[in-house]
Amino acid sequence: MDASNTLRIGHGYDLHRLEPVAPDGPGRPFVLGGVQVPHDRGPVSHSDGDVLMHAVTDALLGAIGAPDIGDLFPDSSEACRDAESSRFLLEAQRRIQASGFDIVNMDLTVICERPKLMEYKDLIASELARLLGCDSSRVNLKAKTHERVDAVGEGRAVEAHAVVLLGPKS
Ligand code: MG
Repeated sequence: MDASNTLRIGHGYDLHRLEPVAPDGPGRPFVLGGVQVPHDRGPVSHSDGDVLMHAVTDALLGAIGAPDIGDLFPDSSEACRDAESSRFLLEAQRRIQASGFDIVNMDLTVICERPKLMEYKDLIASELARLLGCDSSRVNLKAKTHERVDAVGEGRAVEAHAVVLLGPKS
């Protein structure tokens, strides 16, 4: 792929079921963008279940037309069991750079009824920017509820959307 003078856009989406955390259930600690957020429920997942990192990873991979996160890191793989999702994110980052691209900006939305994410948004955006080696002004994070309807609104799931724009590596 010739990255000169080229912009690429990518979209990622993910959802994880939320269950009570151990010892009351199978939920893992609730981690978003590498930041642990206190909650009595957490994702049920093969890896650490970081729904936001999974969405960002898929957006980065999608922007360069690479295989998606499920292709690269299948949930049937023992090597991915309990994996920290930063591993997936950094592989996606490595691939976009190898293709000659860098992140222009990303706009992210997490949707969950609880916990309230207001006080964690800046920290989560900063942590993603740190991992990706870009300025935190390039990472925008929004948090919404699902107005108490459907599984997300009933607190039984968390979902994330990610849109990223890539430009030629400077
Ligand atoms: Mg996932």
